[in-house]
Amino acid sequence: MNVMLPTEGSEALKEALESVDRILIVTHVNPDGDAVGSVLGLRGILEAAGKRAEVVLADDISSKYQFLIDRPVLHVGDPLLSSLTEEDLFQIVIFVDASERERVGSVLDRLHTWLVEGAPEVNIDHHISNNRFGDIVIVDPERASSAELVMCVAQELGIELTSGIADQLFAAILTDTGRFQYINTDEHCLRAAAALVEAGADPSRIAQRIYLERPVLFYKLLGHLLSTIELYHDGRTCVMTMPRELVANFFPDGNMDSEGIVDFTVQMENIEVGIFIRQTGEGVYRASFRSRGTVDVQRIVKAFSGGGHESAAGCEVFGPQEEVKERIVTEVGKWLP
Ligand code: 5GP
Ligand code: MN
Repeated sequence: MNVMLPTEGSEALKEALESVDRILIVTHVNPDGDAVGSVLGLRGILEAAGKRAEVVLADDISSKYQFLIDRPVLHVGDPLLSSLTEEDLFQIVIFVDASERERVGSVLDRLHTWLVEGAPEVNIDHHISNNRFGDIVIVDPERASSAELVMCVAQELGIELTSGIADQLFAAILTDTGRFQYINTDEHCLRAAAALVEAGADPSRIAQRIYLERPVLFYKLLGHLLSTIELYHDGRTCVMTMPRELVANFFPDGNMDSEGIVDFTVQMENIEVGIFIRQTGEGVYRASFRSRGTVDVQRIVKAFSGGGHESAAGCEVFGPQEEVKERIVTEVGKWLP
């Protein structure tokens, strides 16, 4: 499967892996499809290379990605992690799809307790906002997904992908390219996807599980959300807002999967930038930005200490809802052509 371009850092990782047996893999909070698929795929690849590899997450894996889990992952409070003996401590940690160390959330506070002293940090990511932290850096913002960089690592290690790993990595590419529709969809990710299908990935089954089995309540809520749409800047900016009460009405347990809702904000004529603002706490809002290509939303969210890609980025904004919306819209206005 030599379809991947050689990537800087993957040779250094191969060398570093030669002298370690126990590897820890971490990713960003609220793991999306690329994060989930990439960490699971990488774990399988490292196991195939004869290593012990574990994934530790700060948050649960969304139900729509559960079918990708071949073996349970660990969470921050896991007894297995708190009872590690000296000989069990991990010798290297690989951050995947995290633009900064802090993106792994609560994992970061405890990380040092699970690692041998001086364990090297590896940074595998494709965010343009990645700050190149770590001892071994495999970062390429030209790649549509972190999964493609994981495939480079597999290629460097000479590991043949099983159909299970191929499914995990395919799901990652599928979701981070918005089903091969976002502006990042290029010949490299399509070639990688083709190689994964050759290795046994099942595109139709994966798409079905991720996109076509959402709870009916999701669609009822979406109906309400669509009616919150407001247009600004001559119809070039679209804002959709989700107050907490609305979610509580439909999902009283608070377990609401809002991934993908933001896509509806950029699916209409004339739109350049779409924003989905979701209340997550008292005076706390998470904003997801999408661009149709002319505006670099990653630069917009910098004003709110966020990060991401040119066409998809996010941040947290604090204050009363109307003020949050106004600050966001004003910021977008500065960047529209
Ligand atoms: P989403 O809108 O789907 O949550 O995120 C879009 C992209 O921006 C993803 O690649 C995600 O990792 C990144 N992103 C979202 N929120 C943040 C944030 O608060 N900080 C950083 N650094 N990246 C973010
Ligand atoms: Mn990603």
